Amino acid sequence: MAKRQSVGKMKTASTRVYSTDAGARCPGCLRLLAECVCAQPPASAPSAPKQGVVRVGRETKGRKGAGVTVVTGLVLAPEALKALAQALKKRCGVGGAVKDGVIELQGEQRDAACAVLEAEGFTVKRAGG
Ligand SMILES: [Zn+2]
Repeated sequence: MAKRQSVGKMKTASTRVYSTDAGARCPGCLRLLAECVCAQPPASAPSAPKQGVVRVGRETKGRKGAGVTVVTGLVLAPEALKALAQALKKRCGVGGAVKDGVIELQGEQRDAACAVLEAEGFTVKRAGG
């Protein structure tokens, strides 16, 4: 606070309640939460990871038969990733795994995987031939 403002503080204090009982203050703008001017978090808010394009490709190298369908580019918490993998496996009726943020599904499942991911609101890009 600047010195200049302290001059009027006495007068303000008598009319305005400064007690913490009045409510919690926002750590951002230091106003009461009801008067908060920064309620809309900036794009850099850690609670909302930026979801980019999800790629659905296929990997046959060193794999048997149709290989595996791989879903990469997911920006999800481990539990959400696991849940998504479950949904994909169920939809495709095959086994799969989650490795280092990548979902693998057995066989060629790109069509089904794309459908599930798009239904979940992801921007999906089909990769590979
Ligand atoms: Zn605020």
